[in-house]
Amino acid sequence: MAQFQAVKGAKDIFPDEIVRWHYIEGVIRSVTSLYGFSEIRTPAFEYTELFQRGIGSTTDIVGKEMFSFLPDPNGRSITLRPEMTAGVMRAFLQKNPGGGVPVHKLFYIADLFRKERPQAGRQRQFTQFGAELIGVANPAAVVEAVSLMMQVFDTLGLHGLRLRINSLGDLEDRMRYREELRSYLEPYRNDLDEASRERFEKNPMRILDSKNPAVQEIVAGAPKLLDCIKPEGRQEFEKVLGYLSDRQIAFEVDHLLVRGLDYYGHTAFEVVSPELGAQDAIGGGGRYDALSKELGSSAEIPAVGFAVGMERLIITMEKQGLFATLSPHGPQVFIVLQDAGLEDHAMRIADRLRRSGIMTETDLAGRSMKAQMREANRLLAGFALFVGQDEVASGSYTLRNLRTSEQVALELDAIPGVLHESSKP
Ligand code: AMP
Repeated sequence: MAQFQAVKGAKDIFPDEIVRWHYIEGVIRSVTSLYGFSEIRTPAFEYTELFQRGIGSTTDIVGKEMFSFLPDPNGRSITLRPEMTAGVMRAFLQKNPGGGVPVHKLFYIADLFRKERPQAGRQRQFTQFGAELIGVANPAAVVEAVSLMMQVFDTLGLHGLRLRINSLGDLEDRMRYREELRSYLEPYRNDLDEASRERFEKNPMRILDSKNPAVQEIVAGAPKLLDCIKPEGRQEFEKVLGYLSDRQIAFEVDHLLVRGLDYYGHTAFEVVSPELGAQDAIGGGGRYDALSKELGSSAEIPAVGFAVGMERLIITMEKQGLFATLSPHGPQVFIVLQDAGLEDHAMRIADRLRRSGIMTETDLAGRSMKAQMREANRLLAGFALFVGQDEVASGSYTLRNLRTSEQVALELDAIPGVLHESSKP
């Protein structure tokens, strides 16, 4: 075993897997642009208070999952970002203290860090793709976010995903509901597991999404949050559901859906994948109007967004066989050298071909011609270009198509044109 291993919960991604990432990222970039979203990149760390204020101090993330450190003995604590929304809102408020243009549509693909117990589909460093629509409270904006997420899934060919949706009402609704829920759960307190007993005091709504079957049985009879929501909130939710039906996006209203972050209010949603085990959520999001004020804005800025876990997306796509047609592509041409004395000549040819836009490989290891041919095949090169004393003397080079074994003799100037022509679909 190598002396050093990657840190527990962190993974290396090698070129054979990176083709999948590039493919998915390409789909994300093209679908987000159809909806008018632009990319934002924010720092990998932020001041710890940002997450304490933004995500909420009773949440699992802030309570026990943050990687925080002091940059210097007298410095302010810094945390590796465990999610993106707080950082994006911080960046937005920093850049637009007066509010700026009314609608901002931003997307990101970013690495995140959470000190969770690693298991299948759960890492300590993982990647999310997400989008934030800042500035409008319209139910149409919520549906725009959900549609964007679902269109990415559709374009990737995913099937069998389930969209669960609920309304969390406003803060007042939730305060009222918390008390109702506590009264309902009080008689069962001793039957709850330890995690739920802890949540009973701090954040009882999180008991609703417990994965423990005994707890699930208890909460099945709990009062419904939707019944505590004021008529305006209910109307808004109905409008969201109506728009989703209009667009033929299937959903299930799930009264137990609460989401683990404090900044959500009104519509919240989650997508689960049948292909994932215990960690079955592939993405989720919702409205988070309260976040801006929590981060110091004088007025509440309505916003809605979602985040999708890239690793869980990849696991699901793998299980659904969606990478089958994705073949790695090799160099267009591999320059095969007859003898090492021609190395400088081969380098000049490679340079010329690369400058004309041809993906070119040369032998850097001083291998025999036979070994170079093996390497060209291993790399899935399209062509081999032979460079020997005769070719250099005559100026005519043999180009062999490695799929069909056809050969042609060409002058150097003609080679780029032939290779460009052959790589057309
Ligand atoms: P959250 O920000 O917790 O709502 O998570 C949104 C999505 O990110 C989840 O549905 C997962 O797909 C993914 N995710 C969250 N935490 C992890 C993790 N520790 N490892 C891998 N993926 C994660």
